[in-house]
Amino acid sequence: MFQGVEMGVPVIVAKGAKPGKRVLLVSGVHGDELNSVGAVQQIFAKLDASTLSGGVIGSPNRPGVEWVTRKWPTSSLGTTLINPKSTWPARSPATRLSGSAG
Ligand SMILES: [Zn+2]
Repeated sequence: MFQGVEMGVPVIVAKGAKPGKRVLLVSGVHGDELNSVGAVQQIFAKLDASTLSGGVIGSPNRPGVEWVTRKWPTSSLGTTLINPKSTWPARSPATRLSGSAG
């Protein structure tokens, strides 16, 4: 599906005025569920980076949203697509992709 294809990914960042932890908000994990894309947009509209410690990063699952799919490509499984619901959260890199080929 995506082999050899470069793909830009939209990212929005709110960098806080003070150092701190960062959080990543990935929306559209299931590309047919778009409510999370709007939710992240609303969160960023309300963020005030001048009062924030750390940062917030938002990015959609671009392939999933564009192809309206629940499955993601992975570099380690060739053309096999995975449903992230069955692989997240990963306990370790070794177990992350186990059971995802089905
Ligand atoms: Zn979902």
